Amino acid sequence: MTFPCVQCGLCCHEISKVPALAEYDRGDGVCRHLENKLCAVYKNRPLVCNVQAMYDFYFRAVMDGKTFIRENLMACMTLAENNPEIKSKIETFYRQEV
Ligand code: SF4
Ligand code: SF4
Repeated sequence: MTFPCVQCGLCCHEISKVPALAEYDRGDGVCRHLENKLCAVYKNRPLVCNVQAMYDFYFRAVMDGKTFIRENLMACMTLAENNPEIKSKIETFYRQEV
């Protein structure tokens, strides 16, 4: 499974509601490891940030990979609600998954 991330970095700007990332919040909801829209600790990123690992550990037992990608892309589109350019890119991938 390859998750079609457009590397917008929006999910890393909204971590205040993710308990597993509480220690990563620099105080304004942005992850302290986000640098120029990219993860500075990508190879050692937390499990919750790793779509493939989350699927393998928790979701494989309850849904197929295509559904999991669709669910994640829907969350990405919600994050991009106020950014039409990024949302459009994510929607393109979403349409390929439906
Ligand atoms: S919001 Fe979605 S598309 Fe953007 S960086 Fe995060 S996972 Fe990738
Ligand atoms: S650890 Fe990396 S992938 Fe996870 S929220 Fe921070 S910058 Fe984003």
